[in-house]
Amino acid sequence: MLQPSKQMTASFHAELYKLIPEDHPLRKINEIVDFTFIHDLVRSSYCEHYGRPANEPELLFRLLFLQVLYNLSDERIIQETQVNLAYKWFLGVNPEDNLPDPSQLSRFRNHRLGAGAVDEVLISVVRQCIEKGLVKSKTIIMDSTHTLAASQKQKPLEVLRDAAKRLFRVVVKKHPKLEKKLPKLPGLRKEDQEDAEKIMLQYLANLGETVELLLPDHEGSISEKVRIAKAIVEDERLLANKGIMSAIDPDARFGWKSNTKSFFGYKEHIAMTEEEIITAVEVTEGSSDDGKQFKELLNQTLDAGIEVHEVIADTAYSGKDNLEEMKSKQIQPVVPLNPIVHNGGLRQEGFEYNKDADFVICPAGQHSIRKAVQGSKQSGNSRSLVFYFDTEKCKACPLKEGCFKPGAKSKTYSIRIVA
Ligand code: SF4
Repeated sequence: MLQPSKQMTASFHAELYKLIPEDHPLRKINEIVDFTFIHDLVRSSYCEHYGRPANEPELLFRLLFLQVLYNLSDERIIQETQVNLAYKWFLGVNPEDNLPDPSQLSRFRNHRLGAGAVDEVLISVVRQCIEKGLVKSKTIIMDSTHTLAASQKQKPLEVLRDAAKRLFRVVVKKHPKLEKKLPKLPGLRKEDQEDAEKIMLQYLANLGETVELLLPDHEGSISEKVRIAKAIVEDERLLANKGIMSAIDPDARFGWKSNTKSFFGYKEHIAMTEEEIITAVEVTEGSSDDGKQFKELLNQTLDAGIEVHEVIADTAYSGKDNLEEMKSKQIQPVVPLNPIVHNGGLRQEGFEYNKDADFVICPAGQHSIRKAVQGSKQSGNSRSLVFYFDTEKCKACPLKEGCFKPGAKSKTYSIRIVA
């Protein structure tokens, strides 16, 4: 049940807040951003008539804000806030007041706000920045940065075993009586090693189905583990070591910063003003193409009320579609052209060009191992870039049908360069 916003009654101890310097960053943020919009944003996620009164959503949101700003865990932000005057002042509570339990933060983040609320929060904050005259520039800068996954990359067998153990554990913890009804983790003998992945895949599928049968109305952490188990079982690229690579963070993927440096995690695609106010954010798996996020970032920025006259971005955004989109909106692109990206990238479905690493990634997740230019400058339009794949990997590839002819000496992918 959500109660109307409370007005705090300042206690005698609130005098201590005078010790917080006038130029403290939290004072400045508090002056500029009005967080009361959070109340309306989460209203629909609360039952109107039943349940205990909810902890003030704005207070929980401000705690999440501090958590992100100072990079602290749920437990640490509560511990730190308990003894930090500036944090407590920012929350709008009295120095002697108690704070919510850390578990309330994750509930609020996942069940009340949810991933979808990020855009709305961003739009509300950007609109306030515009109203307060903080956005003067009509130029938007787009780029991406990477975030590491919450776990290490695992081999397919580890992914399967880990997912199975996690699902088994969470079900038994919540329903101890079901332990005997669940299939037991198979002990793999030496002679099973060759088929270990298939045995474990079969076990995970069987375990998932049994849980759904025994607990048709499962929810919360059980649903989450069932969802992950299903995604792993249905992932065609898992055993080729190119699909899901972590049972903890199944959406994380390898991305490339250059052709020798990779990372395991996600990409954050960002649009911001010259005043460094972020106007749009899209999070994708690490392997995704920056240029494909362009329209979404631009539309989010425009929806927030920013007037855009110019976009500054790198070659990844130089695709024809993006340039045409800018032209149609009378936006000046400041984007260096990359001939491959500009000409529409790759034509065959599933192949992607990675401009940071300058290689092509195929549908099986393999990347080309070298490239060559075919044709001469004199021949003008007929020049092509040819990317070569490792034929040993193609021979063993589960997706080779229609892609690699048995006995072929090479597997290439050509892209015409239009001068
Ligand atoms: S056959 Fe080779 S190029 Fe084609 S999808 Fe498989 S690994 Fe990639």
